[in-house]
Amino acid sequence: MDASGGPSARMPLAPVGEELSPAERTRFARHVILPGVGDRGQRRLRSARVLVVGAGGLGSPVLLYLAAAGVGRLTVVDDDVVEATNLQRQVLHGIADVGRAKVDSAVQALALLAPEVEVRPVSQRLVADNVLDLVADHDVVVDGADNFPTRYLVGDACARLGVPHVWGSVYQHDAQVSVWWSGVGPCYRCVFPSPPPPGAVPSCSTGGVLGASVGTIGSVMAEEVVKLLIGGGEPLVGRLLVHDAWRQEWSTLPVAANPDCVVCGAGADPRRPLGIGATESSQDGAEEASGDGAGTARPSLPSISVVDLATRLAARESGSDEFVLVDVREPGERDVVVIPGALAVPLGEVRARGGEALAEVAHGIPVLVHCKSGARSAEAVERLRAEGVDAVDVTGGVLAWVRDVDPTQPTY
Ligand SMILES: [Zn+2]
Repeated sequence: MDASGGPSARMPLAPVGEELSPAERTRFARHVILPGVGDRGQRRLRSARVLVVGAGGLGSPVLLYLAAAGVGRLTVVDDDVVEATNLQRQVLHGIADVGRAKVDSAVQALALLAPEVEVRPVSQRLVADNVLDLVADHDVVVDGADNFPTRYLVGDACARLGVPHVWGSVYQHDAQVSVWWSGVGPCYRCVFPSPPPPGAVPSCSTGGVLGASVGTIGSVMAEEVVKLLIGGGEPLVGRLLVHDAWRQEWSTLPVAANPDCVVCGAGADPRRPLGIGATESSQDGAEEASGDGAGTARPSLPSISVVDLATRLAARESGSDEFVLVDVREPGERDVVVIPGALAVPLGEVRARGGEALAEVAHGIPVLVHCKSGARSAEAVERLRAEGVDAVDVTGGVLAWVRDVDPTQPTY
C-alpha cells in the first residue's frame, strides 16, 4: 500500500510460496544472488500466474524468458497457425512448426526449456465473452497481440478488473512499451482513447518490422512482468517508454490516468461493452483477419474475383477487354509479390488526390483495384466511386491471387 492507502506498483503480486529445492537453487542461482530478487523473489515467480496474449513476435521472447525465469504458470492465448513469414521474428517457432497451431508449438518449445512450468494453451480468439474470465485468473497480463480489436479488448478487461497489463507495440523501427494499471496509473484507454482511423497505422504484415526489434521490446516486457510479480524496481506504470531502433535511442514520456476514461474514469459505466465498439474500426484488425473479416465487408461495392480478374487480364492482353488494374499497396509490399499488369498507386495518393491520382491512366474505362487482402482496396473503391469513377474491388487482394491463381508466388 502506498501513502494514500491504494495499491502500489511496488507491491509484490505473487505470494512467496514454499522453500526452493536444492535443484531449484542451482537452476535459479543467478536470480537468488541478484539484489532485489533473491530467494523470496524466486519463490514468488514460481507462485505466479501470467496470461500472455499472442505467441508471435512479442509473445516469443516474453514466453521464453518467463519460462526460463521459473514463472509457475503461463497461459498462452493465440488462434493462429505458424506461417513461414512469422519465422523472421517469432523465435519460439521453427521451420518444422509451419502449419501448426502457435499454441501447440509454444507448449512444445517451452517444455524443452522449462518442463516444470505449467503452460496452458488457449487456442481461441479473445472475444468479449471470454476475456474477463481469462484475465481474472492471472496476476499479470501481457499483450503481444497484432491487432487493435484484441488490444482494446485486453486493455479494457484488465482496466475493469484492475489487473496490471504489460503492453508493447512495434512498427517498423519505432516501438513503445508501458505498464497499464487502472487504480495505480493510467489504463490503455486513458492514453489511447480510441483506435486510429482505418488505414492510419499499417500492421507488421503491411509495413514490415526488424525481427530483433520485437526481441528487444519483448525482453523489456518480460523484465516488467518479473518486476511486478516480485515487487522490485520501478515498473513502467505512468510512463511510456519509446524506442527508435534506427537511431538506437530510448526516451520516456509521462502518461497520466484520464479522469474521463470510459473504462476506468469516475463516471465509467461498468456495463459498457469491452473492446472496440461498432462505431470504431481499424484497418489493422481488418487486414489481419483472413478473408472477409470484420471491417472488410462492404457488400454494396461492385467486386470481381481474382479468377475472373485473371480471365479479364488475358482478354486485355489480346485486345478484347479494356480496364486499368490498380495496386494501392505500399512499394515494399510490391517488392514481395505483384499481380502482373497492375499499376502502383498507393492508398495515400488516392486519399490525397482522389480520382486525380488516376487521371493519366483511366479515361472513362473501368478501374479494378486491389491491395493485400481487401481493406485498403475497398476504401479506395469507395473514394473513387464517390467521384464517379467506375471502380471495382478485387476481392481478397493479392493474397487471394496467390491462393487461387498463382500459388508459385510468395505471400507475406
Ligand atoms: Zn482508463
